[in-house]
Amino acid sequence: MPTKQHPFDSAWLEELTREYSTPFHIYDEKAIRANARALRDAFAWNDGFKEYFAVKAAPNPYLMKILAQEGFGSDCSSLPELFLADTVDIRGESIMFTSNDTPAVEYREAARLGAIINLDDISHIDYLEEHAGLPELVCCRYNPGPLKAGNVIIGHPEEAKYGFTREQLFEGYRILRDKGVKRFGLHTMVASNELDSDYFVETAHMLFDLIVELSEALGITFEFVNLGGGIGIPYRPEDSPVDLAALGQSIKEVYDRIIGGSDHPPLKVFLECGRMVTGPYGYLVSRVLHAKHTYKEFVGLDACMTNLMRPALYGAYHHISVAGKEDAPADHVYDVTGSLCENNDKFAIDRALPEMEPGDLVVIHDAGAHGHAMGFNYNGKLRSAELLLRENGDVVQIRRAETVDDLFATLDLNSLASFEV
Ligand SMILES: *Cc1c(COP(=O)(O)O)cnc(C)c1O
Repeated sequence: MPTKQHPFDSAWLEELTREYSTPFHIYDEKAIRANARALRDAFAWNDGFKEYFAVKAAPNPYLMKILAQEGFGSDCSSLPELFLADTVDIRGESIMFTSNDTPAVEYREAARLGAIINLDDISHIDYLEEHAGLPELVCCRYNPGPLKAGNVIIGHPEEAKYGFTREQLFEGYRILRDKGVKRFGLHTMVASNELDSDYFVETAHMLFDLIVELSEALGITFEFVNLGGGIGIPYRPEDSPVDLAALGQSIKEVYDRIIGGSDHPPLKVFLECGRMVTGPYGYLVSRVLHAKHTYKEFVGLDACMTNLMRPALYGAYHHISVAGKEDAPADHVYDVTGSLCENNDKFAIDRALPEMEPGDLVVIHDAGAHGHAMGFNYNGKLRSAELLLRENGDVVQIRRAETVDDLFATLDLNSLASFEV
């Protein structure tokens, strides 16, 4: 049976909970950096390669600062995400602003920061021009529709709300060219959590072909192609990660053949991955509060789906290790629950695990993307702290836990006394 490892010794973890009460998220800096370098190395053949970390996966400026040092930019899609990038000195063309249904104020802020603006729709050309002015460099998001099969999370591209159709792209770049835009990029994002690297090679192929066609038809050249994000991670013990080096080489072969074999000048390759950048290197640590024996065996944690909603939201698998019992036989079957008054508040259903008892610490794997980030406050739940395990073994708190005061900060309780009912 394949298994999954985590980097924490159980006695060390127990000690850590004296300072930081559970539940908390903890990220492994060394592993994040090693993975970032592997991604960079895989595309080192491409002059100007850049990964724009999709901030929504783990919107913590401490993590963004580490990633910036590894050469990553930020892929932002909202005002607060732009704010975070600016806070850690990620500005200008180190920001990719890939939004949709975008309010004017966000385009203005993206323009102020000099971000690369990636348009989601042909009607946004006029909207952007009216509200922020057209920059010299513009990117458009392609939705290949029925020309490309989607994957499970994104579904069929033609059902997706994102991007320009193929015809709209030809029209859109022509309009942009005629309005004086000088520099162009092309983007697509058609998969999420995809572990089959052929999918990304095919996507690159499709975009390289399209760039050659667009540039010949319109007499423009492209500076970059943004292949989007969507590289999956091995949530299940039997899953294999995408081989980044092999992926980089396969894309290089297609690049050499199509771009190299055309009159088009060299093209920078961009990615905007989120999940694979931080996902496997973040863990949700929680303690078993109760063991309950009714029609099933339940263990109740001090974390709940407000700390990690993927299992409840999509039935997603997150591996669970019981600290100190990593090598014990998984000869019990449990539903692992949280405390929300929602019956789908379960981290696992019918999961084979070692025998558990109140007080055990559990480590929930692959919580580093869309974990804390998707947190919410339903049922008055407070969002947990985020910790960082530094390369030297120190732990620093990179976001404190919320307090009840934080939760009620938007309520004017002083006016309540004089509120007549
Ligand atoms: C979410 C998102 C990403 C990142 O996707 P991952 O699956 O986390 O790699 C990149 N680009 C856009 C536009 C997104 O919405």
